Amino acid sequence: MQVFTSVLVLSLCFAAFVYSHIKDYKERKADSMSSIAQVIGANSTSAIDFQDDDAAKKTLIDLQKISPEIINSAILDTESHVFASFTKPGVDTFDFSESASKGNTTFYRSGYLFVYSTIFNNNEKIGMVCMRVELSELNKIRSTQYSISLIILIVGCGLAFLIALIVQRYISNPLLSLVNVMKQFSQTGEYKRIASPKGKDEMSTLAIVFNNLMAQVLENQKKKDEFIGIASHELKTPLTSIKAYLQVIDSIENQQPQKQYVQKALENVNKLQQLIYDLLDVSKIQSGQLHLTISSFEIDDVIDETIASFQIVSTGHKIIRTGDALNQVISADRQRIEQVLMNLLSNAVKYSPGKDKVIIHTEKNHSQLLIKVEDFGIGIELEEHDKIFERFYRTKNNSILISGFGLGLYICRDIMKRHDGKIWVESEPGHTAFYLSLPVKSEKFENAAIVEKT
Ligand code: ADP
Repeated sequence: MQVFTSVLVLSLCFAAFVYSHIKDYKERKADSMSSIAQVIGANSTSAIDFQDDDAAKKTLIDLQKISPEIINSAILDTESHVFASFTKPGVDTFDFSESASKGNTTFYRSGYLFVYSTIFNNNEKIGMVCMRVELSELNKIRSTQYSISLIILIVGCGLAFLIALIVQRYISNPLLSLVNVMKQFSQTGEYKRIASPKGKDEMSTLAIVFNNLMAQVLENQKKKDEFIGIASHELKTPLTSIKAYLQVIDSIENQQPQKQYVQKALENVNKLQQLIYDLLDVSKIQSGQLHLTISSFEIDDVIDETIASFQIVSTGHKIIRTGDALNQVISADRQRIEQVLMNLLSNAVKYSPGKDKVIIHTEKNHSQLLIKVEDFGIGIELEEHDKIFERFYRTKNNSILISGFGLGLYICRDIMKRHDGKIWVESEPGHTAFYLSLPVKSEKFENAAIVEKT
């Protein structure tokens, strides 16, 4: 951009410079030629008076010797007839009578300068001097100026390019790296310090301020995560006790109608407990403390057990298993895989009110195990397919109607990532399918599983 602007400005300056220079030259040339024509006119009055055309012609020949660029010259009488004329050898003759009626004039036409000057004797018009002047000098000036302009333009462009490189190095590059750091931070939440600034210029100051600001943001974020972690921990213990007492009361027979209140209380305690577990997981993910406990187990067992225990608490929907049995022993964190499946199942049920089934489909291709959890509920808009895996994100169409905190899928994604697996969604109104893919053999966990077993 800088080079382009410099070239444009330089070109415009040179165009203006060449134009004004040539205009100046033309004006001076026209003035000097019209003075010469006046002198020739004054010298020719006696030749015209005495009808001595030889003397007049000799004057024109002498004129050509002094100014070789005059290629045609003529003296016309008052009737515009040629009295005497001269044409440079090798040049065509020229008929001046056409413009002679205009009187004193100079003009440029077809690359020549034309000069017409009236000859007076005692204030009486007795004839006219006419000249056609070639402009070879002007062409020379033009080509010299074009060459000089071109050379200066090339040198100027080179300089502009050099300056642009320096500017880019000191201004654009630091700014771009700042933008990249910001982009990375907004996408991943990870902050990479921008290279420690050395100078005392504005860019270095900006980098220092930005680094300090980000350090503060990260510090605050850390404090917030720590707070969530501590608060969740503190809430977990009393809540577990309350739940246990409620369960005991609930198990005592013949307590109607108090029993329904106890059950309502238990439902709410369960919700609170789930939230606390989710918050604890989020704070572990944030601080990099979500560790996996790896063991080897049959993946089909985990799927079947999860379905069975889910059906005990959720009876409104039938969970149907389709596809192939995976028949695969994998090395993974059993509890965490169960947690992901539970989350997908409870979402499938929660977001398909009024429907009666959820399908779990499984299949194995060479290196991956694929598990699909499918429901026929409200669906998810295409532009939200990625966003639902972000922390606290809830889709626009359900955030008011169906309760939730937008943490489950964020945790699921992290768990799958830690297993070198993937989670993604395909959805349209009336249908949603969440996919999990897990590597059949995870090099990362094989050894861990052996250690676990021994
Ligand atoms: P929560 O369900 O607690 O809000 P999640 O992280 O589990 O949090 O889900 C994030 C959002 O994704 C949900 O709020 C919901 O808008 C959307 N979502 C998840 N599963 C489904 C589903 N099966 N059908 C429709 N929307 C879903």
